[in-house]
Amino acid sequence: AARNPLQPEFHQAVTEVFESLWPFIAKNPRYAGHGLLERLVEPERIIIFRVSWVDDNHQVRVNRGFRIQHSMAIGPYKGGLRFHPSVNLSVLKFLAFEQTFKNALTTLPMGGAKGGSDFDPKGKSNGEIMRFCQAFASELFRHVGADTDVPAGDIGVGAREIGFLSGYIKKLSNRADCVFTGKPLQLGGSLIRPEATGYGTVYFAEEMLGAVKKSLQGMKVAISGSGNVAQYAIEKCMALGAEVVTASDSSGTVYDPEGFTPEKLAILMEVKNQQYGRIKDYAERVGARYLEGQRPWQIPVEVALPCATQNELDEQDALALIKNGAVCVAEGANMPATMEAAKAFEAAGVLFAPGKASNAGGVATSGLEMSQNAARLAWPRQEVDRRLLEIMRGIHAACIEYGRKPDGSVSYINGANIAGFVKVADAMLAQGVV
Ligand code: NDP
Repeated sequence: AARNPLQPEFHQAVTEVFESLWPFIAKNPRYAGHGLLERLVEPERIIIFRVSWVDDNHQVRVNRGFRIQHSMAIGPYKGGLRFHPSVNLSVLKFLAFEQTFKNALTTLPMGGAKGGSDFDPKGKSNGEIMRFCQAFASELFRHVGADTDVPAGDIGVGAREIGFLSGYIKKLSNRADCVFTGKPLQLGGSLIRPEATGYGTVYFAEEMLGAVKKSLQGMKVAISGSGNVAQYAIEKCMALGAEVVTASDSSGTVYDPEGFTPEKLAILMEVKNQQYGRIKDYAERVGARYLEGQRPWQIPVEVALPCATQNELDEQDALALIKNGAVCVAEGANMPATMEAAKAFEAAGVLFAPGKASNAGGVATSGLEMSQNAARLAWPRQEVDRRLLEIMRGIHAACIEYGRKPDGSVSYINGANIAGFVKVADAMLAQGVV
């Protein structure tokens, strides 16, 4: 903490991982004494830069850009960019740290990174978004490359922004190789990449339930967020026969006891992706109840999929979900449950999957996009989806292998942290002290 003051999110992520690792390392001394943990909490490189751009009123605006290149132990740096006013060093360091373990869990050769800016895309014109992206890319391009660092999207960075960023980097570098994943299809993107994080989270929840002889079929589900991850989690839940009764944004929650339908989801996607509107606008369009300023966790459901942002589900929320009979919680977002909430779920016997396991489908499919780009091929939808499902099942199996407790139950937190660590640590040990 003394070396990294005022970085609460980073401390939280590290504490959660290290609580799993200490007992494991005590039993597996081959991982002790190489400075592995000390090295893992120090990103290999942090780049911080000025992003200046001109808004529609001809005013000069200045934002801060970041890229945290956390670990290259098992492959090129890989992780998304986030554009949100809450972005700072602590948030990005926690995300890059988590990304390193998550990417290892996919079994694909990808290191860990994260980046972004405190730029707020809300209310900006298309031209402003493009000028900001170009200003950001004019520095980022020095640090990325298909075998060095391959960014992707995250909060506030979707297909539109990735199109602008990758187009400008292509112009500056005069190279057309894969410097971004999550690209629009026309620029070499992969089918299923937009769907992958949401689909993967639901595949993972279905695996967890399957392991205790249950399934999503007929279950009521609360989802938070209404962006990329939430939208496709809603779609896959419906496909598997579950009933999604909520969605949200940072202003409030829509509660629809009758559940989403494909028609309602199409309206949500139109409101969010084309009109850049609010969940309140969606609630008005479909005539559903809007709960201003509230989160979805007080509503009785069997499954909760938090898909918005970090620390959006606290201990009180967890206790409400437990009291109302929730049996499974899978994180679609990164670290949406506070540490106290995660502990409450495990203590109550609720199946709880940390994001580094359950939301790894996005980066896994980014890895598949990199493979397709390198081979100059485009796989059909079914092929990518089949591989995504296989990878999620593999992550689930790894969590069971490393997270099984003496009483036979599974701590997915321990399983994900240990399985990810073993892969990264073995690579670090093989490479010597670098
Ligand atoms: P989007 O920008 O598409 O959507 C983000 C959603 O979260 C919006 O509904 C947004 O509401 C809400 N949100 C953002 N900040 C807050 C906040 N402070 N409080 C409450 N709600 C908030 O992002 P994604 O769907 O891509 O990302 C969502 C989460 O999933 C993030 O944690 C991200 O790191 C994680 N993730 C994403 C992956 C991907 O492939 N996209 C991969 C793996 C993880 P509002 O409009 O009000 O801000």
